Amino acid sequence: PFLALALAGGLFSGLICYRLLGRPSSPRTILRRALEAKQFEPFLQPIVDARDGGWIGAEVLMRWHLPGEGLIRPDLFIPMAERTGLILPMTRDLMQQVASVLAPHAAELPPRCHIGFNISAAHCHDPQLLGDCRDFLAAFPPGTVELWLELTERELIEPTEDTDLLFQQLDAIGVKVAIDDFGIGHASLNYLQRFTVNALKIDQSFVKRIGADTLSAHLLDTLVELAIRLDIDLVAEGVETAAQRDYLRALNVRYLQGYLFGRPMPIREFLPALHQHRNAVRNTIDHQS
Ligand code: C2E
Ligand code: MG
Ligand code: MG
Ligand code: MG
Repeated sequence: PFLALALAGGLFSGLICYRLLGRPSSPRTILRRALEAKQFEPFLQPIVDARDGGWIGAEVLMRWHLPGEGLIRPDLFIPMAERTGLILPMTRDLMQQVASVLAPHAAELPPRCHIGFNISAAHCHDPQLLGDCRDFLAAFPPGTVELWLELTERELIEPTEDTDLLFQQLDAIGVKVAIDDFGIGHASLNYLQRFTVNALKIDQSFVKRIGADTLSAHLLDTLVELAIRLDIDLVAEGVETAAQRDYLRALNVRYLQGYLFGRPMPIREFLPALHQHRNAVRNTIDHQS
């Protein structure tokens, strides 16, 4: 908790690091050591089809398993990883871990299993990203997975000719792009013009306000209309209640994600949870017939 607070408050001073590690270390050194010690782990959260609740894939969320401190949430260390540039090797390691666990079980995954990684602004200038995506896809039998990259607007991405080219190349190898936390950032509409966007992830704050006021309802309607006009998919995040699910389903939002369907879980628990979900669905159908 002490380190968590220090990270959150941006008080990551030499003194704090000294107290924690017994020697003065920079944030970069701490994160680099954690990476070498394999302390960053992938957690997976199911993404479901709004129509029937069937799992269509998952979003990969990074966790820092820090001995003695437990699991540290990404909000507390991703900004530091971004500032130090370590987010690039950390994401690469995450992609490799996910591929090595899931690829041997590709046949058990949902068809064209959607696997989404969060990427940072620095990735848009990373010459290795395209190769990392190729490697990820090559680990699976052809056509079994769909790789999604989720771009947030937390940091502004400067579109250049290089980024345009990168996104064309990603598109050419079948990588899909989603705009994360859509609706709360400052560059949303600009992104839509610049990148080939395949999906929008509606920010949780819109889902939270369902039923609360009519302005929010109008905003949601407008987001849905925008997606239809642009012919792109919609994913709603942070779905916690059946009422929210029903509302979004009635609006024709195609995919849903949230605690109602499943919390982020350690990757080793993902396949068992998927099988359990399928069995539960099968039992329901058996009972109905
Ligand atoms: P995000 O990409 O928007 O991810 C969704 C966040 O919402 C996750 O938080 C998830 O655990 C949480 N969430 C999912 N369903 C619900 C729900 O029903 N209710 C509520 N209240 N929350 C829900 P998490 O895992 O703490 O991640 C926070 C953010 O950290 C992510 O937001 C993403 O921006 C960033 N992040 C996580 N992993 C990575 C990564 O590997 N790389 C980068 N660059 N950023 C990451
Ligand atoms: Mg995301
Ligand atoms: Mg989000
Ligand atoms: Mg978020």
